[in-house]
Amino acid sequence: MLTHMPVAYIALGSNLGNRADHLRAAARAIDALPEASITTKSPIYETPPAPGSAEGQGDYLNAVVQIETTLSPHDLLTALRDIEHQHGRERKEKWCARTLDLDILLYDDQVIDTPDLTIPHPHMHERWFVLKPLCDIAPGTVHPHTKKSLDELLCDLPVAGKRTKITW
Ligand code: ADP
Ligand code: MG
Repeated sequence: MLTHMPVAYIALGSNLGNRADHLRAAARAIDALPEASITTKSPIYETPPAPGSAEGQGDYLNAVVQIETTLSPHDLLTALRDIEHQHGRERKEKWCARTLDLDILLYDDQVIDTPDLTIPHPHMHERWFVLKPLCDIAPGTVHPHTKKSLDELLCDLPVAGKRTKITW
């Protein structure tokens, strides 16, 4: 029997179509996985596309959920890719507009560096739209590489978006 249920944090993002519905559907699908359940959800934030993104995209809605899961990190990635595809995600160019993006930010305090999976997510500490909702639900957590708390990392970043009144 598992004495410790692994805890992971997943970032949800959408900037195409009914963005809030995409986040809600993704959260329902994650919670419906037999080997994962959502324990906490952050508020939803609206932010402009990150610098370097393809031109002409709309603003994003972003949120983070905390899950308990018995899936391994790679099996969790596979499950999240399936959910992205079920919700109409098409992969065209890198950083283009997307109906749904699901990224694994943290998985316990594991450090993973394989061709298809990097944990902690390599850009999480430099993106306000990821760190802000993550800090809302996991403020004291320490980043496995920088050894700084997520709150400290967030303090180093300029505010880049705003909390919405959209509810789950
Ligand atoms: P991005 O999220 O960087 O905008 P994509 O969603 O298209 O880009 O992801 C591209 C690839 O990133 C995925 O196919 C996946 O294999 C890889 N990847 C590496 N680390 C992670 C992670 N922590 N969470 C999600 N995907 C990851
Ligand atoms: Mg992604």
